[in-house]
Amino acid sequence: MVAVDLGGTRMKCGLVAADGAVVHRETRATPREAGGRAVLDALVDTVVELGQKAAADGHRVRAAGVVVPGIIDAHQGTVSAENLLWVNTPVLAELQAAVGPDQQVTLAHDVRAGGYAEVRVGALRGTTNSLFLPLGTGIAAAMVVDGSLVSGDGYAGELGHTRFVQGEAAELCACGQRGCLETVASAAALARRYGARTGEVVDGAREVLELLAAGDPDAAAVWDEALTALVDALVLYTTLVAPTRIAIGGGLVGAGETLLAPLREGVHERLTFQREPEIVAAELGEEAGCLGAAFMAWDVAAGPAHD
Ligand SMILES: [Zn+2]
Repeated sequence: MVAVDLGGTRMKCGLVAADGAVVHRETRATPREAGGRAVLDALVDTVVELGQKAAADGHRVRAAGVVVPGIIDAHQGTVSAENLLWVNTPVLAELQAAVGPDQQVTLAHDVRAGGYAEVRVGALRGTTNSLFLPLGTGIAAAMVVDGSLVSGDGYAGELGHTRFVQGEAAELCACGQRGCLETVASAAALARRYGARTGEVVDGAREVLELLAAGDPDAAAVWDEALTALVDALVLYTTLVAPTRIAIGGGLVGAGETLLAPLREGVHERLTFQREPEIVAAELGEEAGCLGAAFMAWDVAAGPAHD
């Protein structure tokens, strides 16, 4: 199984056995600076070359799973993704043509694939109603409802683009709305907001977290704003969909209990009649998307779809 995840700054690639064992892993550049056509060419080359490598190593490649950010039209096999410079780009058709009829290509959303991997072998094992919420450069959710991963024809799970900041404080989001969760609680937002508040350039959310640990009051202020919006989002999700477990992933979960403890406390205080979810750290880290790509592709290769 060839698996490729285009969700991060670099393509994460793997060869994955049926039991989820990763027999080869590598990363490759995503040539965004050269445009959307170049990104697609690089993806196609990667899938073909990984298949060749697998064959050379004595593996039989049954299928390929590719996961991408953005909106996937599952019927057309097209993808629109701002950060890959794709607009209704026929990704599935090009990949399938390149690998030939012997390998079936499965195309899925990076965050939903990551959530699927967490359900199969990670922090959401055994759940039928759960949420995977990676807090990275952006924020999107993988929603498991009554045992199914909800895709909404490719549009579901955009909790990051729901408004949780009101009034003057609401910043313009990349999506065109104001006050989205992503503008205040993504890893990128923490660094940007700390910089805007203090005039100091920081090296990402990691540095803001270090400043927070050192007692910096500006870091504490942007952190509290992020936590407030996240608690609101988790309470809303819990009220609507009643998950038993929520796994937080992405770069920010590196903060560990500094993040998870106040989220648990905040959600606990706010809930009255709702079922209270466990809030835990995701387990699969950067590999979640790639593993999910492989699991989804294995499911398709194994025959009729199942839940
Ligand atoms: Zn937005």
